[in-house]
Amino acid sequence: MRNRSLLPGAPDAAVPANPVRPGTELLRRQNLRSVLSALRLNGSLSHTDLSSLTGLASATVTALTADLEKLGAIGREEQTVAGVRGRPRVLFSRSAAFAHVVAVQIASDALHYALSDFRGTLIDRFSLARDAMSSRPDRFLAEMAGALERLLQRSRLHPSSIALLSLCSKGIVDPEGGRLLWSPVFGRDPVDFQPLLAAFPQAALGVENETLLVAQALSRRNLPQLAGPDGSTGLVALSLGHSIGLGIARSEGPGGVLSVTAPNFGHMLNTVDNRLCRCGAYGCVEATAGFYGILRLAFQVPENTIPAKFVPLSEMEKIATAARQSNRMAQYAFRQAGLTLGQGLSRVLSLAGNLPIVVTGPGTRFFDLLKAGMEEGLSQSLHVRLNGPPVIETIPDEQSLVFEGHLDRALTAVDERLTASR
Ligand SMILES: [Zn+2]
Repeated sequence: MRNRSLLPGAPDAAVPANPVRPGTELLRRQNLRSVLSALRLNGSLSHTDLSSLTGLASATVTALTADLEKLGAIGREEQTVAGVRGRPRVLFSRSAAFAHVVAVQIASDALHYALSDFRGTLIDRFSLARDAMSSRPDRFLAEMAGALERLLQRSRLHPSSIALLSLCSKGIVDPEGGRLLWSPVFGRDPVDFQPLLAAFPQAALGVENETLLVAQALSRRNLPQLAGPDGSTGLVALSLGHSIGLGIARSEGPGGVLSVTAPNFGHMLNTVDNRLCRCGAYGCVEATAGFYGILRLAFQVPENTIPAKFVPLSEMEKIATAARQSNRMAQYAFRQAGLTLGQGLSRVLSLAGNLPIVVTGPGTRFFDLLKAGMEEGLSQSLHVRLNGPPVIETIPDEQSLVFEGHLDRALTAVDERLTASR
């Protein structure tokens, strides 16, 4: 995320640094983030609950909440219980209007816009089909600028109340530079989103990989079936569709700090063959396991042609129906896709350790046809033979995962910026 100096809600916003050693200051910022994060995940909390959830001493919580109240980032509310005498209970919560975030998901067929307040409450959300002309970056940016203006007008918010404009896409992103470096839609034409910030004087810019956000959301859902036998939590998110995405989430250290990455799995070389990938290379995972790879094999299209820029789901359903009715080429295509995914995943597990796998995206509709190949591909590696096959779960609703992960990551970034020194 590229930083601007201040947050909208507070004219002199960064939490004032005390004249203390750098290590102490770092710890204080981390503690401030813990308090903000606990309030975001739980809504309103009493002093006692904040202390037990964050593991911070009571006096520390008093000092931190006082700082955050002074900034306007959190507020307090006194709750009197009817019929009970004595002091009212004080509950802290994040101040909804302190800052806002705009989250935009750039999908191949549509753009999904969302606006949330500082508490994480959704204020507005709409989707727009992509303009056919907008495969040119300049046209695309103009289209986005118009939609962002509409989002602000509908909510009647002042542009300076937006603290973060966060975008996500499939492909390879440059989060620091605010750019999309390679994507299925624009290919190698980089898209620089910085010009969009002109309309938001106080906002920082974030660009994230879409499947990284899926991994982030899954780790927040804290699915018990994904916890490792040693109490560790981590998972691999695999997105199946026209392209193939992968995210790895791990919770590290005693405080469970979440770290999420999105290695370039879809365009990892799987096998030296003649299957041309949309990226221009041969033998990528996607060239066999992406929708167009499956279609190409099923219809015996020459391997060095890219069948279509976008394969409609209805076409894939037809191939799947044929495979389920024992059409041999259709079965072969899905099996090859499964095998490629299994082999690729076995490499990921060899490098990252034994993690459970969650499969999501439109390709989960065909999981029955992919499963046997996937298991075979996984079992070909020594790692899986020694450790046993990974737990694999499917969660088809990718859209909700992307959205959840996006807001979570965006608000975490706003908290980080708020607590960072100037
Ligand atoms: Zn590729």
